[in-house]
Amino acid sequence: MSLKKIELSKQVELAKLTAIKIGGRAKLLFKAHTIDDLLSVLSDFNSDVYILGGGSNLLISDGLIEKVILQLGQEFSSISREKDYLQVGSAVKLSVLINYCLKNGIAGFEYLAGIPASLGGLLYMNASAFNKSISDNLIDLSVVDENGRIKTLKKSEITFTYRSSSLKNQIILKARFKLRHEAGIYKKINLYLKRRISTQDFKFPSLGCIFKNPPELKAGKLIDSCGLKGKIKGQAQVSGKHANFIINLGKANYADVDYLMSLIKDKVYKKYNLLLKEEIIRWT
Ligand SMILES: Cc1cc2nc3c(=O)[nH]c(=O)nc-3n(C[C@H](O)[C@H](O)[C@H](O)COP(=O)(O)OP(=O)(O)OC[C@H]3O[C@@H](n4cnc5c(N)ncnc54)[C@H](O)[C@@H]3O)c2cc1C
Repeated sequence: MSLKKIELSKQVELAKLTAIKIGGRAKLLFKAHTIDDLLSVLSDFNSDVYILGGGSNLLISDGLIEKVILQLGQEFSSISREKDYLQVGSAVKLSVLINYCLKNGIAGFEYLAGIPASLGGLLYMNASAFNKSISDNLIDLSVVDENGRIKTLKKSEITFTYRSSSLKNQIILKARFKLRHEAGIYKKINLYLKRRISTQDFKFPSLGCIFKNPPELKAGKLIDSCGLKGKIKGQAQVSGKHANFIINLGKANYADVDYLMSLIKDKVYKKYNLLLKEEIIRWT
């Protein structure tokens, strides 16, 4: 199979590439299909680039994004098994990984089913659900570091905390997980999906939870107790189903979401003397 050449697009509409369907245009968006492509873009732009995964945690402003945006393509999209390990490229969509695991009876990712993310984004954010996180079964991962060097990091060399990792300024290329076969994966995935759909708002585009849960507390409950469920600004709304979700009713923009986020922070702070921390990543 021959690899595609690097793709460069100008003035790309970013709203289409984010889960919440908000965002202006990218001045330059590169899709790198090989490591060489990736390294050449990094060297041309002094590593000053944004990495776009599944766009499921990104709130992008409505104007022109001047910083170069880089997406990973073909060479970063494969899944393979070697001995006791499952190797997954960082551009692999979670839905594709879950399907692969279903077909092959591989356990370890069922609890994440339903999240519209890529593996790179899940690792960077240390995504978690139902008390399990993507880093639990990780063995090691390959990155391009801030100096443009490719290296392998063992799990013990990375700090993973709640919705965060020490992988800042690194580009994740692929990761290896401990291979674990299990029966009944389909049933487990369905169960987790049902639980997710019963509590989260999937009717409208969103970024999932907007704020991190403070220790021992649930941000959604705090927001709900301030009477903010259903609050609308422009075309953005605090979900009536899950108060930590802001949904796009159709044509919401960055300012609408930003307004609701400020309002939430303000109300929760006044009521509980507690400042909610943002979980989403802003590109402005
Ligand atoms: C409906 C819905 C439900 C959600 N549920 C959950 C949940 O249960 N648990 C949870 O933790 N999150 C959840 N999220 C949030 C989101 O899916 C996660 O934060 C996810 O990890 C983001 O992955 P992504 O590929 O979409 O990354 P993006 O949103 O594209 O990017 C997020 C960050 O990761 C960086 N990044 C992406 N790829 C790479 C790479 N290869 N190398 C280095 N950095 C990279 C980006 O630069 C950016 O800083 C949900 C979101 C939605 C829309």
